[in-house]
Formats: sequence, structure tokens, C-alpha cells
Amino acid sequence: MIPMSKTVAIGKIKIGGGNPVAVQTMSTLRPSDTFNAEKEAQRLKDLGCDILRYAVTDEKDAGSFREIKKRVDLPLVADIHYDYKLALAAIDGGADKIRINPGNIGGEKEVKLVAAALKDSGIPVRVGANAGSIEKEFLAKYGRNEVSLGESALKNAAILEKCGVDNIVISVKASDVALTVKAYEYVAARTDYPLHIGVTEAGTAYMGTVKNSIGIGALLLKGIGDTIRVSLSAPTEEEVRAGRAILSALDLSDGAKIIACPTCARCAWNCADFAKKTEEFTRGIKKNIKIAVMGCAVNGIGESEGADLGVAGAGKGECVVFVKGKIIKKVSETELEKVFFGEIEKCIRN
Ligand code: SF4
Repeated sequence: MIPMSKTVAIGKIKIGGGNPVAVQTMSTLRPSDTFNAEKEAQRLKDLGCDILRYAVTDEKDAGSFREIKKRVDLPLVADIHYDYKLALAAIDGGADKIRINPGNIGGEKEVKLVAAALKDSGIPVRVGANAGSIEKEFLAKYGRNEVSLGESALKNAAILEKCGVDNIVISVKASDVALTVKAYEYVAARTDYPLHIGVTEAGTAYMGTVKNSIGIGALLLKGIGDTIRVSLSAPTEEEVRAGRAILSALDLSDGAKIIACPTCARCAWNCADFAKKTEEFTRGIKKNIKIAVMGCAVNGIGESEGADLGVAGAGKGECVVFVKGKIIKKVSETELEKVFFGEIEKCIRN
């Protein structure tokens, strides 16, 4: 039994403690490019991004968070490596969370300075390890596996705990799906800090989404994971879309769920295209509704059991629209978009 993680607030978003799983992504822009960063942040927020992370490479980046947040209401995370001064500057600059590795930002004195700034500001910190940054001592003792990966992350958390910081989020990432899952299971059994989960360096949009869906999905089904990032070699927007789709597939987010049949020889209309259009149309809807787009009325209505609203091909250029399994109207394919999307809007209003 995995214990519930403790609650940590990243700006207005609360994670852990039974709060909804948050979708995170990482910008490829520098936060100091505020003009473009603001536009991107708004776009990502509109797509359903809950938390946005930036790599901080200099003082200008570190000082940009408050500026972006003036225009976009989205929790922002500063990702810092090797330089404690940048961590201090990002905390000062309005970051809602920082991501560091205490082992590489300086010595004990520097870590203490960052810990003091974290406590003063009240913002949380993410620490962790990935398969490429396993601590040498654990690598020698356990080899490259979930134990060495998990212990490396827990050691980083312990360094900050020693300095009085307990507002911590942990991650243990690998590109290997099985190792990722095992490492998070290992850590989840040993800490109640919230976990940021995902398969890292997962690959292209297609393969990376598959790998993350398996890894993140396996963990979320076990109750492990409080924020997710689908790491993809693809536009940032794709990461957010994939993250939201994973939550939707697991019924962990509000919104429209589309049921669509794979079609077969009984399908006599462009069901697949219309399913895509319906998915686009309903993206961002907050109401929980199940919408079915089915190839034929012969089996489609029965097969889409549980759908609030649906459409199925009826042959001869026509489709039937049904509500809770009952046909309410017959529509020509040319009129279908207008009529069906109108019915969806009605369903949302009710
Ligand atoms: S709903 Fe109809 S078209 Fe779709 S797979 Fe079933 S039988 Fe085939």
C-alpha cells in the first residue's frame, strides 16, 4: 500500500495529498526572452499545462520569473545546475519552485545558503536523480538499478532535510520504462514527499508518448505520482497534450472523453476524421462527458455503452445522433458537424 504523499504548493497549484495530478512541461525558451516566453506560457496554459519549467542559464533568466507571471498566471519553476547563486537569484526573482541537485550546486556552505532562501520564501524544491547521475557510492554498491537510482534521489532530499528544508518534491528518471517504474516504486515506499514522474529522454512524439504512457500510466494506476511530464523530442505543446491525454485515459482529469470505434467494413462514412474533429472541438472542456463516434448504428450504439452522447453511421450519407443510447435524430453527413457539435454544447450547458 502506497501512503498518500504530503501536500506541496507550487504557486497556486497544490500537488500531493490527494490533489489532482498536475501536468508539467519544460520550455525550450529562455525566461529572459519574456516577450516570447509570455506568449508561450499563455498558450501552454490554455492547453492545460499546470506548471511550466525553464532552464536558468544566467542572472537575467533567474530574474525573469516575476515579469512573466505579471501577465500569465501559471506556476513557474527554475531549473538550475552547478550554480547556487542562480538558485538564490531565481528564488529572489519570483520562481514558484526550483529544481536543483544539492550535490552539484556548491559545497555545504552554498547548500545552506540556498536552503535558508527556500525556507524564507516558502517555495518548494525538486531534487532527484536520473539514470545518468546515479551517485558513485550507490553505483558501486548496487549497480545501475532502481535501488541506486532511488537511493541517489533520497540522498539529495536528505541533504536538504539536514538544512531544515522539507518542502520537497522528488524525481527519479530514466529513459528505460521498467527502470523508471521500479525506481519510483522504490522511492514511493520510502518517502511521503510528492513525486514528479515521467520517462525521460523518451524519444520522438510517437515513441516518447508510448513510453511515457506506459511508465506514467503504470505508476498512476498504483497511486504513485503527483505531477507528470511527458518528455518528448517534439514541440512543448505536444508534451502538454500527451500529459492531459494520459490523465484523461485514466479518468484522472475532468473533461470530455471520446469513445471511437476502430471501424470495419460496416462503416460507410468518414468516422475516423469526425472522431478527430470531435476531439479537437471538445479539447479544453471541463465538464465530464463521454462522447461516442461510431462507424455504424448496427453495433455502434450498443458498443458505446455509457456514452452521454454519440453519433453513428446510418448509411446512405446519413448518421444518427443518440443520447444515452436512444436515437434522437437522423442527420445528413453534410449537416452533421453543425448538428452534433450543437448537441455537445447543449449537453455541456445542462
Ligand atoms: S461500431 Fe460498427 S463499424 Fe465500428 S467496429 Fe463496430 S461494427 Fe464495425
